[in-house]
Amino acid sequence: MADKRDYYEVLGVSKSASADEIKKAYRKLAMKYHPDRNPGDQSAVDKFKEASEAYAVLSDDQKRKIYDQYGHAGLNSQFGGGGGNPFEGGFGGGGFGFDFGNIDLGDLFGSFFGGGRSRGGSGVRKGADKVIQVNLTLEEAMSGKTMEVKFDREETCSACHGSGSKGSGGRTRCPDCGGSGQIRRGNGMFSIAQTCPRCGGRGDVIENPCPSCHGTGLQRNRVTETIKIPAGIDTGKRVLMRGRGDAGENGAPAGDLHVKIAVKPHEYFYRQGADLVISLPISFTQAVLGDEITITTLDNKSLKVKVSAGTENGKILRIKGSGMPYLDSPTNRGDLYIKFDVVVPKNLSHDEKRILEEFRRVHGENKSPTPNKISEEDQREYYF
Ligand SMILES: [Zn+2]
Ligand SMILES: [Zn+2]
Repeated sequence: MADKRDYYEVLGVSKSASADEIKKAYRKLAMKYHPDRNPGDQSAVDKFKEASEAYAVLSDDQKRKIYDQYGHAGLNSQFGGGGGNPFEGGFGGGGFGFDFGNIDLGDLFGSFFGGGRSRGGSGVRKGADKVIQVNLTLEEAMSGKTMEVKFDREETCSACHGSGSKGSGGRTRCPDCGGSGQIRRGNGMFSIAQTCPRCGGRGDVIENPCPSCHGTGLQRNRVTETIKIPAGIDTGKRVLMRGRGDAGENGAPAGDLHVKIAVKPHEYFYRQGADLVISLPISFTQAVLGDEITITTLDNKSLKVKVSAGTENGKILRIKGSGMPYLDSPTNRGDLYIKFDVVVPKNLSHDEKRILEEFRRVHGENKSPTPNKISEEDQREYYF
């Protein structure tokens, strides 16, 4: 934690930056370093996380105030960081992809795109949405999976049961803005209204804040949720769990949990929507004479495949219903396409050579072949 950069420095804004300036600065960095735009670039991922974390704090009046006063240490003790790495993994399969850890992306992007935290009439706030990512293998995407994910979530403070007050003291009118929730800066025709930083626009403040949540009524807990991922899911899809995001203030509804899916590429099976494609080597004798071969499907079943006599290199065989399940109708499945790759044998033994030369003697060879005519399809392939 000692080597953590100053949040203002991370976003490149001054200590007195307005909420708008902070949002603009973060949006610029988020666009530049977003993992989707920088695949495989760990330093971009790190920068994205760093900026997101800085934004999560500086965009929240309460957290920003604590940060201004106590620095990183103040946030750790209050928001449950505990000194550990807030980005540690724990979501699904291994090192692939990016995991959003503790960062409140729902909140961040929600505020850009109009969703996210919304204010109720009485100053109670709905909890923030949370976004976490899980990484699946293609096999898991095919079968679906029930899995546990761990993440941090704001829940009702156990000390004050969400009131934010210590003892029976309630809320009192904000002395800075007199209850309007706004203060005016400047004077005459150039004065502008700003959200009151003391009360965050609520118009009232807690008289005697609960020491364990500093008046927020919330505490950050590491939680485990069981998530059912449906068969046929693909990268970019989300599983929505309503009400499993951050708790709301003063009994306001909780936010939602969005589980973002990333499916790892498979070694052999290439996915195209609900269809799967594999490239299968066959010998030139199998191609010429035909054969029956056995392959293992993605769901680990043995499948007999007929290679017809005279199969050309690159020929594609379609096996209906052996692809991925459709997400919206899992009893139906896409197709499996097998592309035959005819292997030309090298380093022939004496016997093999003798037999093939015998074949050539019988079959004969065209010593001056005429080129194949170029079809329109070929032209597209050659020139584009
Ligand atoms: Zn409390
Ligand atoms: Zn105020």
